[in-house]
Amino acid sequence: MQDHFGRRIDYLRISVTDKCNLRCKYCMPPGGVELIPHEEVLSLEELARVTGIMAGLGIRNVRFTGGEPLVRKNLVRLIEAVHEMEGIQEIALTTNGVLLEEQLPALLQAGLTAVNISLDTINPRIFQEITGVDACEKVLSAIEKSAASGIRTKINCVPCREWNEGELAEVAGLARQLPVDVRFIELMPVGCGRQFHGIPTGEVLERLAARYGTARPLADGVKRGNGPAQYYEFDDFIGKIGFISPMSHKFCGECNRIRLTAEGRLKLCLQYNTGVELKPLLRHGASDEEIRAAVLEAVEQKPMHHDFEQTAEAGSAQDSDSRKMVQIGG
Ligand code: SAM
Ligand code: SF4
Repeated sequence: MQDHFGRRIDYLRISVTDKCNLRCKYCMPPGGVELIPHEEVLSLEELARVTGIMAGLGIRNVRFTGGEPLVRKNLVRLIEAVHEMEGIQEIALTTNGVLLEEQLPALLQAGLTAVNISLDTINPRIFQEITGVDACEKVLSAIEKSAASGIRTKINCVPCREWNEGELAEVAGLARQLPVDVRFIELMPVGCGRQFHGIPTGEVLERLAARYGTARPLADGVKRGNGPAQYYEFDDFIGKIGFISPMSHKFCGECNRIRLTAEGRLKLCLQYNTGVELKPLLRHGASDEEIRAAVLEAVEQKPMHHDFEQTAEAGSAQDSDSRKMVQIGG
């Protein structure tokens, strides 16, 4: 399917829960968010139905996120179901990694093809300061196991003045020791992210170059996955270093994605509220054809670009989504 601006939409991010076992300061308020009542969260069957309809419309890549997707019971069953769907080429997971090691064998068996693990520091004390939980060693161990299993493994790190400015070279160093890519993602002024200060890509690159020598950009067009990351290589590194720069280098012109929230809202842009509620259709007897029509009509309205720059300056933009990142799924 294509949107109004001719962008091909083939990537669906599904938030399977708004619950999380961490409390990252830039994502969730300290007391947590008000959770969606259980009955309002789409069931695994409903999620599978929507995904199947979307696969019929041209979705090729599905990513499960959250909250923390691995706290959702029986996620493996959904992965198995999506794995069976015609047209699906990639099934990926974005996780904080805390529960990954124990679930990895079942996830691989079910058909998972790629995993992104979020990690902002390899220092256990700072990890606990950011996330509120002492689980750094667990996540590092999961990263090693994931890399060793052969599944495509990426690390996502959000550089932030407030806590991990001095930690970035250490996180990047994981790509020196292991066959993993490490990506630095600019902090976006969404939810709690508004209170903190991200570090722009250019500065992170300088910091890494000071430690590891000059970075060589991968030739234009060399894609590693479906995302908007720009990749670099450093001497003696096994993996690559990527940068996702929604603030300093807007990539909306190439945006290929839509998002489904845990309560069944199809969201067309990370920033804005535009979209359609699929749950009433799913629960009130709509046919696949009716749901397909609703999705296509919504996709037509995908905004041309985000306006996070203005949001960062002005505090909030009109009709911006007021939800926290943990409720949207990143
Ligand atoms: N719990 C899972 C995890 O942490 O990977 C999946 C959901 S989390 C919302 C997805 C990603 O969004 C994480 O990599 C997290 O660091 C990132 N994130 C959260 N808030 C953000 C913000 N304001 N700007 C940029 N990235 C953010
Ligand atoms: Fe949870 Fe992921 Fe948000 Fe951290 S970034 S609080 S792990 S949802």
